[in-house]
Amino acid sequence: MKIAILSQDSSLYSTRRLKEAGEAQGHEVQIINYLRCYMNITAHKPTIMYKGKPLEDFDAVIPRIGASRTFYGTAVVRQFEVMGVFSANDSQAISRSRDKLRCLQLLARKGIGLPVTGCAHATEDIDGLIESVGGAPVVIKLLEGTQGIGVVLAETHQAAKSVIEAFRGLDANILVQEYIKESQGADIRCFVIGDKVVASMKRQGLEGEFRSNLHRGGKAEKIKLTPEERSTAVRAVKAMGLGVAGVDLLRSNHGALVLEVNSSPGLEGIEAATNIDVAGKIIDFVTKSAIQVKNRADSQY
Ligand code: ADP
Ligand code: MG
Repeated sequence: MKIAILSQDSSLYSTRRLKEAGEAQGHEVQIINYLRCYMNITAHKPTIMYKGKPLEDFDAVIPRIGASRTFYGTAVVRQFEVMGVFSANDSQAISRSRDKLRCLQLLARKGIGLPVTGCAHATEDIDGLIESVGGAPVVIKLLEGTQGIGVVLAETHQAAKSVIEAFRGLDANILVQEYIKESQGADIRCFVIGDKVVASMKRQGLEGEFRSNLHRGGKAEKIKLTPEERSTAVRAVKAMGLGVAGVDLLRSNHGALVLEVNSSPGLEGIEAATNIDVAGKIIDFVTKSAIQVKNRADSQY
């Protein structure tokens, strides 16, 4: 099979591992910098050009779109979809997952457990907003932050108000969330492929740090999920319409709460913590799904 990995940087661990895993299974794998793709939007023969040559005969793509490149990256994925190529994550689902508010609204609609979360536009409404999630301490997040950047714990009402005013003064969109104290600086990353959790790890933030992101110095270890956590993670990914995703959960006094669903989950942390060949499992999923999609399309004729 011929597989494209859409990635800006071929030296990244996740990108390298996917290529390696695909080749180990006998596939032809090409890493494509989607920022260098240009497209011809025509009905009869939609194409994608890459460094002067058309990209042809691909059976599947695995998008690894950077958070700051969502607009162009999803446009390239969409063009592959128009050309009938299977994508591990579809372009719409990637866009959905990039906005924390949109993501939580979709999960809420499916009845998935979330921390109590609020959002407001006008600074006149800040007091009400903080009270609506149960009052301080609260967590304030930029809607499009990643890797723990733009996530702030405000211990008091006054601190929360100042932070929200500062963000809104910069015209940044934010959400405000109840602080789940009992999670004690730890969260759980569930790596979901299709309708299964294939690997999971607990991440613990540095001493005195409430954010557990590995990019913020958090440490990871393998963890066994409860059946409830497992099904919550799978339902969350399904609600988002993703094929491959990382679901972040907090263990709260009233069960597993979903923090976010990530459409380009890193492989390095999870493979190191669990010793599971997650890249190989992604390739399995993508190749099987591509064949199914192709058979379905063929049977329509
Ligand atoms: P990012 O997209 O930047 O990773 P997250 O929403 O995942 O943002 O938050 C980063 C980390 O902060 C989480 O992994 C978790 O450890 C901690 N955190 C986020 N929200 C809460 C919350 N409501 N209560 C307790 N800890 C939280
Ligand atoms: Mg996160």
